[in-house]
Amino acid sequence: MGNSCQKHCGNLRPYVLCCCPSEEKGTCYVTESIVISNPMVNTSISQQPSQPVASAPVLRASLSSRVYVALYDYQARTAEDLSFKAGELLEVLNGEDTQHSGWWHARSLGSLHKREGYIPSNFVAPYKSIEAEPWFFGEVKRVDAEKQLMYPGTEAGVFLIRESETQRGEYSLSVFDGMSVKHYRIKQLDTGDYFVARKKTFPDVTALVEYYKRYPDGLCVRLGQPCEKKEVPAPFDLSYKTQDEWEIDRNSLKLLKKLGSGQFGDVWEGMWNNTTPVAIKTLKPGSMERRDFLREAQTMKKLRHPKLIQLYAVCSLEDPIYIITELMRHGSLQQYLQNDGGTAIKVQQQVDMAAQVAAGMAYLESQNYVHRDLAARNVLVGEHNVYKVADFGLTRIFQVENVYEPVAGMKLPIKWTAPEALQFNKFSVKSDIWSFGVLLYEIMTYGRMPYPGLNGAQVLQKLEKGYRMPQPPDCPPNLYLIMLDCWKKSPEERPTFETLQWQLDDFFETESESYFDSNTFAR
Ligand code: ATP
Repeated sequence: MGNSCQKHCGNLRPYVLCCCPSEEKGTCYVTESIVISNPMVNTSISQQPSQPVASAPVLRASLSSRVYVALYDYQARTAEDLSFKAGELLEVLNGEDTQHSGWWHARSLGSLHKREGYIPSNFVAPYKSIEAEPWFFGEVKRVDAEKQLMYPGTEAGVFLIRESETQRGEYSLSVFDGMSVKHYRIKQLDTGDYFVARKKTFPDVTALVEYYKRYPDGLCVRLGQPCEKKEVPAPFDLSYKTQDEWEIDRNSLKLLKKLGSGQFGDVWEGMWNNTTPVAIKTLKPGSMERRDFLREAQTMKKLRHPKLIQLYAVCSLEDPIYIITELMRHGSLQQYLQNDGGTAIKVQQQVDMAAQVAAGMAYLESQNYVHRDLAARNVLVGEHNVYKVADFGLTRIFQVENVYEPVAGMKLPIKWTAPEALQFNKFSVKSDIWSFGVLLYEIMTYGRMPYPGLNGAQVLQKLEKGYRMPQPPDCPPNLYLIMLDCWKKSPEERPTFETLQWQLDDFFETESESYFDSNTFAR
C-alpha cells in the first residue's frame, strides 16, 4: 500500500493523483472532495502506472464528467496522438459526444505541461465510474472469468467483478482461492445498497471491494490484487485521421515479413508510420473490380467487434491493392490447429474457440451482414487464446479458385457452403450457420479437411441424399448435436449465432454449482 493516502486523509486506497491543500511536495495531496483511487494496481508491468501521475494543481481545475481514466498504456502513433499510461487522468476536450467516434481530443491531467492530442476512446473510462476500476471486467462470462483467474502464477485472492450474465444490472465477484475460482453474486437492496452477505451492506461496489480486501468475513479468501487485464483492445483505426480518410499513402507502410498466401494474394506483417504493427494483404491485380471493392470495404470498415478482425485502411489507388488490418500473432486457426494436432489443445479450449467465433458471428448476424466464407482458414489467432473472424464479405467481390470449385459460373468453397447457397445462390446468415457447423468439425478434428476423400461434386450429391459428416473422435455428443443443428436442410430450422454463442459459452456449466450463495458463508 505504498501509494496510499493514509498520511493525509486516512484513506487506505492507493491513488494515482491527489490534490490536497497541503503544500507538501512529493507526498500525497488530498482534498476531502477528491480522492482518486488508483484504477491500476495490477502487477502487470505494461499496465501499471509507474508513479502517482502528477502534482496536484491540475485536478483542482474543474473536474467534470469529461474526466476519464486510462485503462491501458497507449503509445502515440502519430504526431497528433497523445501517449498515456494506465491510470493517467485525461480531460476530454472534444469528440466525446460524437457517436461511434473512436478518437477523442484530450488533455493529460497527469503532468504540469499540458499535453494534448487524440486518444482511442476504447482505452479510457469515465473517472469515478465502476468501469474505471482495475477489477471491473464488464460483460465477461463466468467461464472467461475462470480462464483469466486460473492463469499460471495467479496468487490466492486475485479477483475480478463482472456484470452478471443472467441478472441484468447485477454484478458477480469471481475470486481465485489458490485452488479454484469461486463466484459470488453481488446483490442490491431496494435502498440501492450492495451486499454479498446481507449482514454487511455498502453504498457502492467499490466500498464493498475495499471492505473484503481488509476482511474476508466469510468469503473463501480475503480479496487481493485485481486480475490482470491481459487482453488490451486494439484501437478501431490506425489514427484519428484514418477513421475518415482511410485511403492511406502506401509509402507510410513497410512490408517486413511474408506471413502467408491466400487465394487473393499475399499477406505481410508490416509497420505503419514506423509505429504501428499491422497486417497487409496485397491483392493480385485484376482479382476484383476496384469500385466493388471500395463499396464493400466501406461497410467492412464500420463493423466493429472484439471478435472481428478490424479493417484499418486501404491503398487502392494503384495495383496491387493493399488491405491493412489488425495483426494477429499466431496466424490462421486452421494452421494453429494442424500444428497442435491434439498435443496441447483439449476440448475446453476447442469449445472456447467456437464460442469466440460465434460471438463475432452473432455481431455480424445483428448487423444482417453475411460472411459467405466462414472456415478455420478465415479465423485468426492472437495472444492469450483470442480468436477473431477475418475476411468477411470478401468473396462477394473476388474471383476465387482451388478449394473454391466452380458451380454454375460461380466459384465457391464447396465443402463449407450450404446446399441452398451452392445451388440457388441463396446466401444468408443461415448459410453462414451451415459453414459454422463445418468450422466446428475442423476445430474438433484439429484442422482436417472436411469430407475426407470426397470431391466437391460428390459432397453435394451426398448432402442431397441426407448424408452428414460423422461425429469426430473425442467430440462430446452435445457438440456433435450442435453441428447437426447447423446442417439442417431447411435454413429456418438452423439455430441463430446468438443461440450458438450462449450454448457454447455455457457448454460446461451446471448452474447448481456455479455460485456460492451469500447464505452459505454468512455468519
Ligand atoms: P483464403 O484466401 O482462401 O481465404 P487464407 O485465409 O489462408 O485463404 P489469406 O487471408 O490471404 O488466405 O491469408 C493467408 C495467411 O496469412 C493466413 O493463413 C494467415 O496465416 C496469414 N494472415 C492473414 N491475415 C492475417 C492477419 N491479420 N494477421 C496475421 N496473419 C494473417
